[in-house]
Amino acid sequence: MPKLAVLTEFNTSVELQEFPMPEVEPGGALVDVALGGICGTDVHLRTGHLSVPLPIAMGHEGVGRIRALGKGLDTDVEGEPLAVGDRVVWANNIPCGTCYECLVLREPTLCQNRKIYGINRTATNEPHLQGGWAETISLEAGTTIIKLPDTVSFEEAITLGCAGPTAIHGVVENLSIEPGSVVAVQGAGPVGLASAMYAKAMGAAQVILLGGPSSRIEVALKIGAADVAIDMDTYPSAEERLAAFQEIAPRGADIVIECAGVPSAVAEAIDLARPNAQVLVLGQYTDHGPTAINPHKITKKQLKMFGSWGFSPAHYVKYIKSLPHLVKNHDLASILSTYDLENVNDALNDVASGRVTKAALRPQTSTD
Ligand SMILES: [Zn+2]
Ligand SMILES: [Zn+2]
Repeated sequence: MPKLAVLTEFNTSVELQEFPMPEVEPGGALVDVALGGICGTDVHLRTGHLSVPLPIAMGHEGVGRIRALGKGLDTDVEGEPLAVGDRVVWANNIPCGTCYECLVLREPTLCQNRKIYGINRTATNEPHLQGGWAETISLEAGTTIIKLPDTVSFEEAITLGCAGPTAIHGVVENLSIEPGSVVAVQGAGPVGLASAMYAKAMGAAQVILLGGPSSRIEVALKIGAADVAIDMDTYPSAEERLAAFQEIAPRGADIVIECAGVPSAVAEAIDLARPNAQVLVLGQYTDHGPTAINPHKITKKQLKMFGSWGFSPAHYVKYIKSLPHLVKNHDLASILSTYDLENVNDALNDVASGRVTKAALRPQTSTD
């Protein structure tokens, strides 16, 4: 009987529940989960900040090995043959493909009918095992499954979790970063680190990270995600940070990527930007309310401002394809802290407090 982490009520602990091993459905797969990533969204799920049905089958990030393949599922999304025992990752969401957002806007990230493992799947409905914080997850037909490249470990693939595809969508697809660009990244969480790494991969000459706490800044510099950092513990006010930034980049940033998730960071982004710069607001995934900005600066500086929401299965595929390159340049696994599935609440608390940069649960110890 595989165990699954379930959130039965908001603002309570996550509990482990056992469910019978489901039959693999045609076109679907059963996957033994090697690592189930924990992301900031999970903290918000627990506090009830997002409107989702209870009890939640938790875990929207995962990697593992194929346990069983359903009839008709022979290859991954790229046509690579799939077999029992293969190391795979799966896109956590399945857009409907038929709504206005999917069909007309061609923006599956905005699909209102998306099924999302670990977020809007309940543990009460069969096949129950609908999240990645489980010994086994049941993936339904239509799930985008990607074989993990041989040069990438489970740890490396889960470290950027959904931050990786979020940055592919926001940074790689929306921004024009050129060799020589000066890029400011606000926020030293996984989305900030992923954005910084992709900015470098796109040719940025200098990536300047503004964030905290100091432990996360140290990690970012150690793995080469950023060239320079402005630590919020040393420069606690926006004025101090701007002055420190202008010492490094007197003209301002060619591109500013907000990954802080704090509304006031957007006003700060406008100040960090040089005239004609691009500003991406990527970190405001949770609604923390309005903030004061001076719109005159947007006009006068001719800023190009963008927003970007989540990611689609296509972004997930691009993320996995980029991993062999990323892991050559950055020691991703060194960011990761792993916990046994039984210690899921400790892990969630450590993510909530910022004590760890990235955490993942290890439901199956035998799949390495
Ligand atoms: Zn997430
Ligand atoms: Zn749709």
